[in-house]
Amino acid sequence: ISRLLYKTGIVVIGAGQAGLSAAYHLKNRGLGIGHGFVILDQSQHPGGAWQYRWPSLTLSTVNGVHDLPGLPFADTIAGTASTVKASTAVPHYFEVYEHTFGLAVYRPVKVKVVCEREGRFRVETDRGFFSAQGIINATGTWETPYIPEYPGAARFQGVQLHTKDYRSADTFQGKHVVIVGAGISAIQLLDEISRVTKTTWVTRRLPVFREGPFGEAEGRAAVAVVEDRVRKGLPPGSVVSVTGLPVTAAIEAMRARGVLDRKPMFSEITETGIRWPDGREQQADVILWCTGFRSSLDHLTPLMLREESGGIAMAGRLATQAAKNPRVHLVGYGPSASTIGANRAGRAAALELIAHLGL
Ligand code: FAD
Repeated sequence: ISRLLYKTGIVVIGAGQAGLSAAYHLKNRGLGIGHGFVILDQSQHPGGAWQYRWPSLTLSTVNGVHDLPGLPFADTIAGTASTVKASTAVPHYFEVYEHTFGLAVYRPVKVKVVCEREGRFRVETDRGFFSAQGIINATGTWETPYIPEYPGAARFQGVQLHTKDYRSADTFQGKHVVIVGAGISAIQLLDEISRVTKTTWVTRRLPVFREGPFGEAEGRAAVAVVEDRVRKGLPPGSVVSVTGLPVTAAIEAMRARGVLDRKPMFSEITETGIRWPDGREQQADVILWCTGFRSSLDHLTPLMLREESGGIAMAGRLATQAAKNPRVHLVGYGPSASTIGANRAGRAAALELIAHLGL
């Protein structure tokens, strides 16, 4: 890309599941790369956030990666699911996908800010500027880890990490690790770390284990709850708050080992550990915050899409369209923050935006 202003129809920001799905449908409807649309991604390589997942996350421990349109994931996997790392298999799939459908992604290109100028969007990147009629934002959440604030955090002399920093349980050997969070990542990391060292598991609310199956109907119901929230302009909320924690064989085994011993949230962090409101303390070397992510949307701040509640009011068939600016679609946000949701949202956003802009 040159440093000059480059004019295009639609800028797709992010080339994870959501961005690639949108790009596939834009191209399928006859838009060419360049004048019709461009795809920008700040990562060096294909794979969206999957390329950064911890090495022990394999295709048998993820919930499941949905196929992108037109090419089954299974056709690109070498090896058995229990051993194949998600951090290599999914990026390989995306790379093959980009090649197969001629979806040239400009990378690494970081979008710094998007604003409106004379009826068009001006997209400022670290490699030049774009001028576009519409935006499909697909920047995910990985760049925006969330850690809640607790008094004393700055005093703690141990190490504080977020899920995003986790590589392997072995690095914690001989240390006492406090794991914070009630989501799937918290449980998975607790499982791994509790095998090699002492752990304390704390959660703000009682974890909600889901004993029954989680089929299509349950999935649709969970999505409907989040969709309803974002249509009202509320922040989407955490995944586990609507899906619960599925009781897998791994969770049964953790129960049997006695590691699912949940403690309530502490009220304070001390120099050497954590303290509960009743004064009890636990010494700790590491606090691992498995407290989730927020949508990475800071670059859209000048568009003023947010409500006072902090959420973004969404409209459109699958709630991908920003109600305050119908030429901006957010995919992989709220109800589409899963691989299956991102897939559907990509299609809806592409078709609606093409129709809206008359491209
Ligand atoms: P991402 O894959 O995060 O892609 C976003 C892309 O945008 C990245 O490539 C990034 O480089 C780029 N980007 C970000 N900011 C900028 C910028 N400013 N400028 C340019 N580029 C930018 N979902 C499932 O369905 N099944 C699972 O098993 C599952 N497991 C998960 C496990 C973990 C640990 C996590 C955190 C999530 C998991 N999810 C799972 C959720 C799922 O990963 C995402 O919802 C889904 O992959 C959608 O991806 P995306 O395209 O929205 O975002």
